Amino acid sequence: MSKRDYYEVLEISKSASADEIKKAYRKMAIKFHPDKNPGDKEAEEKFKEAAEAYEVLSDDQKRARYDQFGHAGVGGNGGFGGGGFGGGMNMEDIFSQFGDIFGGHFGGGGFGGGGRQQVKGSNLRIRIKLNLEEMVNGTQKTLKVKKMKMAEGATSKTCPTCNGSGVQLKVMNTMFGQMQTQTTCGTCQGIGKVADKIPPGANAQGLVKDEEEITINIPAGARDGIQLNVRGKGNDAPFGGIPGDLLVIVEEEVDKVIKREGDNLHQELYISFAEAALGTKKEVPTVGGKVKITIEPGTQSGKILRLAGKGLPSIDSYGKGDMFIHINVWTPQKLTKEQKEFFENQMSSGEMVAEPSGKEKTFFDKVKDLFN
Ligand SMILES: [Zn+2]
Repeated sequence: MSKRDYYEVLEISKSASADEIKKAYRKMAIKFHPDKNPGDKEAEEKFKEAAEAYEVLSDDQKRARYDQFGHAGVGGNGGFGGGGFGGGMNMEDIFSQFGDIFGGHFGGGGFGGGGRQQVKGSNLRIRIKLNLEEMVNGTQKTLKVKKMKMAEGATSKTCPTCNGSGVQLKVMNTMFGQMQTQTTCGTCQGIGKVADKIPPGANAQGLVKDEEEITINIPAGARDGIQLNVRGKGNDAPFGGIPGDLLVIVEEEVDKVIKREGDNLHQELYISFAEAALGTKKEVPTVGGKVKITIEPGTQSGKILRLAGKGLPSIDSYGKGDMFIHINVWTPQKLTKEQKEFFENQMSSGEMVAEPSGKEKTFFDKVKDLFN
């Protein structure tokens, strides 16, 4: 059975917000929950399908990969190491995920929740430039990241407004009698704590501008524009909250020699007139080292050599792209007196002339060959 699109599974648009995704999953999970559909295999499959879709779409990093590469980008057998999503979740995984969605109240009498909220620090976004080799093989980068951190000596106390519960109860008189409503505490924004001592230089939430050295592991097979999510390395949250995430956006550093086109790589190689005539051996750079290539005697300018499998690993299959070497014969622009005499002799004797056999490939033939 082919996999359905995750957005389709949750019946949401591609631009759905995190909140919409959560809500949509909640709806599906309730509808297809095994307790509500005992013995119904189809409902169970739908339940698992929704959980899998949520697992991917609720994670910024996995969602970005999924948006870019589809199921292949998040499949367990894809090129991405580290935390790949294996597909096919078991029921235990799904139920353990519920704590997050239903506040631990699933099945225990409603989806009440409320109460003290876990406040999260804001996310930080940085860009990181990687060369082809680092993108192909993966790498580790240590960077100094500017972020908000809890100031030393900053202390907190229980919020006097809500007594630490994070919520305020309001009693309203209505025509049906007294009704009690619950709202997030306006003093502490639901954290349950407020600042007690704030050291000089820190803001009202006890945070100061700081810098931290952070080591980022970049998995093999990264591509330009991919976003990695380093959990808990963003800005600190005010008292008792969890830090935000560090979002790392990968940018491809333009290589001076090697140009990328999909999984294939291209480079120009200039050889001298003598090398083209007599043939030679040349070293060319590839991802992961140099390779020796042979230039046959009588090589024409414009010839393209193909080094099979010397391109980039393919994102959605096991294959590898190729490296294409475009040969350019360099016509000398300065000649010594002897060289000038030599060429003049060749010209006047009529021995060195262009004599295409008609079998030479034109530029368009070569382009056609590349795609065959
Ligand atoms: Zn409060």
